[in-house]
Amino acid sequence: MGGQRSDTREIVIIGAGIVGIAIAVCLSERGHKVLVIDRQGICEGTSSGNAGALAFSDILPIASKGILAKVPGWLVDPLGPFTIRPSYLLKLTPWLYRFWRASRAEALKRTVQAQGALMRLAEPEMLGLMERAGIRGMVREDGSLELYESEEELNAALPGWDARRKAGIAFEHLRGEELAASQPGLASRFIAGTFVPGWKTVSDPQQVGKRLWDYATRLGAEFLQAEASAVAASERGATVQLADGENIETAKLIVAAGAWSHLLAKCLDDAIPLETERGYNTTLPVEAFELKRQLIFSGHGFVVTPLQTGIRIGGAVELGGLDLPPNYKRSEAMLTKAKMFMPDLDTSDGRQWMGYRPSSPDSLPVIGYARTSKNVLYAFGHGHLGLTQSAATGRLITDMINGKNPSIPIEPFSPQRF
Ligand SMILES: Cc1cc2nc3c(=O)[nH]c(=O)nc-3n(C[C@H](O)[C@H](O)[C@H](O)COP(=O)(O)OP(=O)(O)OC[C@H]3O[C@@H](n4cnc5c(N)ncnc54)[C@H](O)[C@@H]3O)c2cc1C
Repeated sequence: MGGQRSDTREIVIIGAGIVGIAIAVCLSERGHKVLVIDRQGICEGTSSGNAGALAFSDILPIASKGILAKVPGWLVDPLGPFTIRPSYLLKLTPWLYRFWRASRAEALKRTVQAQGALMRLAEPEMLGLMERAGIRGMVREDGSLELYESEEELNAALPGWDARRKAGIAFEHLRGEELAASQPGLASRFIAGTFVPGWKTVSDPQQVGKRLWDYATRLGAEFLQAEASAVAASERGATVQLADGENIETAKLIVAAGAWSHLLAKCLDDAIPLETERGYNTTLPVEAFELKRQLIFSGHGFVVTPLQTGIRIGGAVELGGLDLPPNYKRSEAMLTKAKMFMPDLDTSDGRQWMGYRPSSPDSLPVIGYARTSKNVLYAFGHGHLGLTQSAATGRLITDMINGKNPSIPIEPFSPQRF
């Protein structure tokens, strides 16, 4: 390894997405000295452009939502909600196999339990963190509305709602005038909707990340813009090798590098099946539609979110790895559908975006120690839920660093579970 920066750091975090930022805040609040490294800026990647949902009630793994049954139909449509880029299929096969295994009844039950426990921690942790950071006002508390085009689609969703009811999540199925009042201006094709009053969104996910980081810097956290090309562990700590050849020594290292994390974990002999579910959206000016709350079009794999900075329309899953160029026809396809579903939507002046969800095959994040060293911790793989679970992850990692028993069982999130 090349040149070395003089001092040994106490804690280094690789990744300034929402997960790395939340961990940095939690550790700084408890008096730790933290350095965050990112090759981009603060909250510039996937965490900047997501749909902004604090989806605390979203406890069902992706492999459960009847998705496997829908996949063949979706795959026929190259711009549909779920696509596999053909040139990536071979590389993806082992992950797809694990994804399929995660959908079996026993595995699903364990996942829902673990996700439920993490979400029960996530809500108070996120809201508490935002309160302490002085940004509690950035949470919108007007719930969500999931929409169905047929009785068949509603009926197919009922078992999932039943599982949520058992987990204590409140919701109400709406029809007719109640549905119309819940969101005026919807096309008549929607015969029913499910209103989840406890669902929350944020005013803008990137602004939340940046404001949380401001709070972290007030508590002493530091930032270095640099690329980590390798990591290594030793008895006394860990080393981060930067792309410019310099080394950073640290007592504890946390890898929170989103969809790229497994590349660093590989340096420590951890083979973690992390894939990316690439997602797309378009953000329109705020005036584009009078939106009362987040709308969820599950059958089409996208949501429409009222942000302070615009109306964001998007979602979809594209399995295509980290290197293939974006296909923004996907953003356009969702916008065209949104116009069909909300005829008054003004689709002009949109800004297109793609992000890389860091996804494990069982939809649970990876939170825990590296296989060969207690000086390296992993915090990644939050898939569709990184914003929602960021503060809870910060809390769990902080407890582990401080030698405290984590507030929920962390075995289901073990990096060695695969
Ligand atoms: C379309 C879409 C909609 C979504 N909607 C929601 C939602 O409504 N609610 C929700 O909770 N979640 C949502 N998500 C998921 C959420 O955005 C992600 O789970 C979350 O952003 C992941 O955060 P992260 O910090 O782990 O990763 P990232 O935000 O990707 O951050 C990782 C950082 O690590 C840096 N990095 C990586 N490798 C290196 C390296 N070697 N050296 C230096 N830096 C490195 C990257 O530059 C990046 O900044 C959505 C995702 C998408 C794509």
